[in-house]
Amino acid sequence: MFCPKCGTLLSVRREQGKVVKRCPNCGYTEEVKSPSAIARVTRKRTEKKPGVVAVSHIEEGLPVTDEECPKCGNVGAYWWIEQTRSGDEPPTRFYRCVKCKHTWREYA
Ligand SMILES: [Zn+2]
Ligand SMILES: [Zn+2]
Repeated sequence: MFCPKCGTLLSVRREQGKVVKRCPNCGYTEEVKSPSAIARVTRKRTEKKPGVVAVSHIEEGLPVTDEECPKCGNVGAYWWIEQTRSGDEPPTRFYRCVKCKHTWREYA
């Protein structure tokens, strides 16, 4: 960013559609190539959305009950309770078959 001739700090300015670095001391000018490319370097934010917790990870440490799987008939299912939708609804109990991983909810 310094003038190669006199060492003065160059000032960036826009002239006739071009961006040039100009020395305020000796008048040396240097064209800045594709200033838009510099702007494009700005990083895109790769922010992960706080997604729903993958159900496949839930079963670790969950209690098992002797509920019968409606899909394969296996007796034995993990269960947990989730508060669904609004708070004025009662929490729903979910089951997951330990055998076929089929998940269903208990309807009150
Ligand atoms: Zn200069
Ligand atoms: Zn099952």
